[in-house]
Amino acid sequence: MKPVRMFAVVSAALLTVVLSACNATGDTDDEDQPLQVVTTTTQIYDAVVNVGGDLVEVESLMGPGIDPHSYQATEGDLTRMENADIIIYNGLHLEGAMSDVLEQMGERSHTLAVTAHIEEDLLIEPDVDLLGDDFEAPHDPHIWFDVYLWKYAVEAIRDELVELDPDNADAYNENTEAYLEELDELDEYIHGRIAELPESQRILITAHDAFGYLGNRYDIEVQGLQPVTTDVEAGAAGIRELADLIVEREIRAIFLETAVPPHGIEAVREAVLDRGFQVEIGGELYGDALGEGGTEEGTYIGAFRYNIDTIVEALRGD
Ligand SMILES: [Zn+2]
Repeated sequence: MKPVRMFAVVSAALLTVVLSACNATGDTDDEDQPLQVVTTTTQIYDAVVNVGGDLVEVESLMGPGIDPHSYQATEGDLTRMENADIIIYNGLHLEGAMSDVLEQMGERSHTLAVTAHIEEDLLIEPDVDLLGDDFEAPHDPHIWFDVYLWKYAVEAIRDELVELDPDNADAYNENTEAYLEELDELDEYIHGRIAELPESQRILITAHDAFGYLGNRYDIEVQGLQPVTTDVEAGAAGIRELADLIVEREIRAIFLETAVPPHGIEAVREAVLDRGFQVEIGGELYGDALGEGGTEEGTYIGAFRYNIDTIVEALRGD
């Protein structure tokens, strides 16, 4: 869509708001309407559902199995964003192919990047050698793999909803408090399960480097075939290096991700077999997207538990 037309649509929406604000009959229609929230990723969708409950209507632009790094907004997405009360996204360049659109939206609409207020020293600086000069983001964007950091995102969402809809502040605060407790339980569960792994098997090899924050917080070494963005393809050298590492350390399993094509990890497995060692594909992890809506894995907590159970069972050789 051309910027000029987008501006016209937004102007029309603003006009509607102004007109309804001028309505002196005390019509409370607007106040009864749930807040219209558009999110980029499924993780953020789930957080908004937990904070907002019935007070919000949420739509995620990206669905299960969608790679957020390369996802481009459709015409329909632009309309959804223009009509929303707020657009909530990850930031730190996760939505790399949508950067310009999100920036433009930020000039006209309410937007929130859930990572915006996380202190810089809590963020991971990825290995720039792997990424090349074109890569713009100085930090790893996959913060949801550290439950402690994800709580910042949930709180940022709460603060924003309270600001937009102060009449319902109590409900947003209560929902958030209850959800943060569930996140603390999840955090403890992950620590406990990783601790079940023998030191020698505490290494997670996946399709792309999404799990760095998991490694940091839960004490497991992490290696991704592709770097922190999927824009950069894994080369033959990367495949050979990983295969050597797997043989040398006698690692039992490596993992696919739902939002990344399987060929890279399958090539690593082939290379390991060529070296006379057996490594299993330990399962498919929810990396950059949650599972199908309406299932356990369609929630942040459910997907995280599934990932951890899959990782621990495969690396233990159950
Ligand atoms: Zn990613």
